[in-house]
Amino acid sequence: MQEHKVEWSDWCPGCGNFGILSAEQQAITELGLDPKKVVIVSGIGCSGKTPHFMRLPISGVHTLHGRAMAFATGIKLSNPQLKVIINAGDGDQLGIGAGHFVNSGRRNIDMTLIIHDNGVYGLTKGQASPTLKLGLKTKSLPKPNINESINPLAVAIASGYTFVARGYAYDVKHLKELIKQAISHKGLALIDVLQPCPTYNDLFTKEYYDKRIYRLEEVKGWNPNVTKKEEEDEKIAIALEKSLEWGDRIPIGVFYKNELLSTFEERITERSPSYADNMPAHQIIEDQGKP
Ligand code: SF4
Repeated sequence: MQEHKVEWSDWCPGCGNFGILSAEQQAITELGLDPKKVVIVSGIGCSGKTPHFMRLPISGVHTLHGRAMAFATGIKLSNPQLKVIINAGDGDQLGIGAGHFVNSGRRNIDMTLIIHDNGVYGLTKGQASPTLKLGLKTKSLPKPNINESINPLAVAIASGYTFVARGYAYDVKHLKELIKQAISHKGLALIDVLQPCPTYNDLFTKEYYDKRIYRLEEVKGWNPNVTKKEEEDEKIAIALEKSLEWGDRIPIGVFYKNELLSTFEERITERSPSYADNMPAHQIIEDQGKP
């Protein structure tokens, strides 16, 4: 890891990435996290530039396409005291990185994954990404999308993610609170962020989302928290059903939260009790004074 240097953003005007970046920085600041203990890991795509544009003195690693979760896993397991946040696109995580996305859920490592979900591969001129539904044609496509889409929330719930939420890039205040909850959560957290790409996706625009989005926390009786083991199946079923709602109304907020399951770090510690106390890599990082 190299010491962080701030660069000027080259995202397109109106890109939802700005809202995600702003919410993330505010969340880290408001949580009072030690910047030396925060690492942002990104994949390839427009979202991959997020660590470069952070205005906080934290470390970032811009990794390979689809491999952000693998890099993040190595960073977290070699230094469990770090807060690790992954910023990646829907194409990165649900296309080439889908294997890592699914199997990370099985481990329940204590990290936060933020997917910048815009339905296109923005960095390479707007090809259809895995969240664009079958038959849709954005302005960047010569013909309608020939593949069916993936539902990130449903896949995450089924894979074992223990915090699953959806945010909206233009509702920065709400997204900030979601990110704070995700970072504070014990276990693997996903926030799928609806992120308009005004350059290539003329279907899922700010105007489209503004008319449809509603907050789950404002729904009477909504409670995504698993407080005892016997509730798990029921809460999963409710979250899965809610994750399918898409059309005139689109929910954002927390769909599922379960802190009863052990993390991968806890499972390692159970087998090797000295794991968390014997971290030479962490000691070296601390001694050098830079994360
Ligand atoms: Fe944002 Fe789309 Fe431009 Fe990429 S191409 S920076 S996702 S607006």
